[in-house]
Amino acid sequence: MYLEKFRLDGKIAVVTGGARGIGYAIADALSEAGATVVIADMNGEGAKDAAAKLAAKGRKTSSEQLDVTDPRAVEKVQQAIVKRHGRVDILVNNAGIAISNEPAESMSDPTWLKVLDVNLNGVFWCCRAFGKAMLEQGSGNIVNIGSISADIVNKPQEQSQYNASKAGVHHLTRSLAAEWATRKVRVNAVAPTYIESDMTKSVAEGSSMMKYWLDGTPMGRMGQPSEIAAVVLFLASDASSLLTGSIVMADGGYTCW
Ligand code: NDP
Repeated sequence: MYLEKFRLDGKIAVVTGGARGIGYAIADALSEAGATVVIADMNGEGAKDAAAKLAAKGRKTSSEQLDVTDPRAVEKVQQAIVKRHGRVDILVNNAGIAISNEPAESMSDPTWLKVLDVNLNGVFWCCRAFGKAMLEQGSGNIVNIGSISADIVNKPQEQSQYNASKAGVHHLTRSLAAEWATRKVRVNAVAPTYIESDMTKSVAEGSSMMKYWLDGTPMGRMGQPSEIAAVVLFLASDASSLLTGSIVMADGGYTCW
């Protein structure tokens, strides 16, 4: 009875930024649980390749090229997916970027705007377009990928735009959860610690940063994309039916200290 609640058979799921990293692991987890997963990524070829890789494992997938910062493109892709698959039950807002080592006093306007645009505006455009259709169909489930950076200030890298964008994602999650709860659309978030992906590789490469990260983590290690995907599976499934507006910390204890 309990394991059944994690199954997603017959559900249609969309994962933004799903071509690689954490997003790809999420697409893997949701499709293994039975969902048809649409990988929507800025990198259209990457999205196609990722969908093909999962299809080779017998999964039901398709792909879309999507830049989440373009609200009109988000609407078009939402409509195209509904046309192809009939509906969307699950939206995972995973697409995000990090630009680190940017002291606030010298940060350029484009750097501030770019990070806020992808990490916060993009999440809102997708929640608005897909959420509206979910409200109309009377059910839906949204999972946003936030970060520990929403609650703590990372050390030693300076990245105030990233931290502020993720704080926005967490509170947007609670705001939409409250607005939509009685209309059967749940909105939750996962807040990962440092995860092994291209994103952390590009920030930490050639620096002593990693030592700070591991010293600040009670578990003494980084996370794997699959460890975030498993939490997303829980939030995207009926196993979490009482959760909305929750921010699940998946951080190896980072925020305890
Ligand atoms: P990666 O950089 O490895 O992958 C990000 C993916 O998102 C890429 O496929 C990228 O496409 C895509 N993307 C970037 N911008 C857009 C856009 N405008 N529209 C659509 N897709 C886009 O990142 P991670 O897998 O590490 O991170 C995934 C999420 O997890 C992000 O929201 C990140 O902030 C969050 N997170 C990550 C942590 C970590 O330690 N890695 C920790 C906490 C949170 P392309 O290949 O074209 O760039």
